[in-house]
Amino acid sequence: MSSQNNELIQNIASFAQAKLRPLVEKIDREKFYPADFLKELGEVGGFASLGNPNGGLLSQILVIRQIGRICGSTAFMVWCQSAFAWYLRQSKNQALNDKYLPDVLSGKQLAGTGMSNTMKHLSGIEKNNLKAIRVAGGYIVNGGLPWVSNLDETHIFGATAQINDSYVMFVLRCNANGVSIRRCPEFCALEGTGTLTVTAKDVFIADEDVLAQPIEFADYIKRVRAGFLLLQIGIGAGIIDACLDVINESNKTRGEVNSYLEHSSGSLNIRLNKALDEVALLSNEVENNNHAILPVLKLREAAAVLCLDASQSAALHAGAKGYLMQNAAQRLNREALFVAIVTPAIKHLRKEIAQIEQKKAA
Ligand SMILES: Cc1cc2nc3c(=O)[nH]c(=O)nc-3n(C[C@H](O)[C@H](O)[C@H](O)COP(=O)(O)OP(=O)(O)OC[C@H]3O[C@@H](n4cnc5c(N)ncnc54)[C@H](O)[C@@H]3O)c2cc1C
Repeated sequence: MSSQNNELIQNIASFAQAKLRPLVEKIDREKFYPADFLKELGEVGGFASLGNPNGGLLSQILVIRQIGRICGSTAFMVWCQSAFAWYLRQSKNQALNDKYLPDVLSGKQLAGTGMSNTMKHLSGIEKNNLKAIRVAGGYIVNGGLPWVSNLDETHIFGATAQINDSYVMFVLRCNANGVSIRRCPEFCALEGTGTLTVTAKDVFIADEDVLAQPIEFADYIKRVRAGFLLLQIGIGAGIIDACLDVINESNKTRGEVNSYLEHSSGSLNIRLNKALDEVALLSNEVENNNHAILPVLKLREAAAVLCLDASQSAALHAGAKGYLMQNAAQRLNREALFVAIVTPAIKHLRKEIAQIEQKKAA
């Protein structure tokens, strides 16, 4: 990474410490959606790395990591915004890029991604919820998505609708005609992430808002997927950093008895650094569109498992103190579980890894 990128990561770390740390309890416990923080993060370059045509994926992952060290929920929202920017970067629709990318990279326009359903559908786990038909100048889309985060009235998100034997991927505005949004049933965490249920009834999507036309979709989704997965590792890495902070703090006074626990700070650190080295390597390959998906899937799965190990270990190290509602250890457990269940969940990743390995062995 260049010294310019290192400086950005340091700035983001200080910015998050000053501006996000005071909001964490409100976000986690009072369903507070930190729109102003996300916009300010955009102003200090928190989404700008993906605007670099020669790279920036690794830098964006490390930005997400710095946010995740303070607040896993917010790291997930930064991932949503980053994933949306990544969709634009991979699209051949230049007019669409011109229309949205500058405002997404600067945080003026907040954005999400409603791709879990399609990712699961493409792995044979569930049916695709959104359906499209072709009309003059675009598509008519119908259907619903149960959970889409980082949304509000004026926000936008990327989604995919099935059309015949292919898919069209597009940008949807929450306030477009025919789109309705409503709150989901209460979650055990991530309640401050602006996660809403979206319904589309006869929504017109103009060709100018299409990320990938049906004929482009197969290639497009291949380019998108690996970046989508690697960016998610930033959330996990930040949560693991925060778990290590809890563990190291507890070791100051309880180091002797803590040494009987598995997943020590030393062993977790080794696993984290190994994963981050691989993230750097794979990010470079993905940027150059010269990657295989299997190592990315394996790394994303390993990161989710590491996140669970680290958060449980943080709670065991912190003991009863970590069981207090205001202690980070119990929040980190709920956030780490999200890394393991958000699409692709650990079970989904293992299914795909097994399928690829079976194919290779045959
Ligand atoms: C906090 C949060 C934020 C999320 N944000 C996004 C996002 O931004 N974009 C996105 O695309 N996805 C988002 N998701 C969805 C997520 O990525 C997973 O797809 C989802 O958790 C289901 O994956 P799974 O592997 O658990 O699926 P499965 O193992 O298939 O389990 C899903 C279960 O949920 C049930 N279910 C389906 N719909 C509902 C519903 N409306 N209410 C209750 N139960 C239901 C199903 O019947 C099934 O039992 C979010 C989920 C959560 C919990």
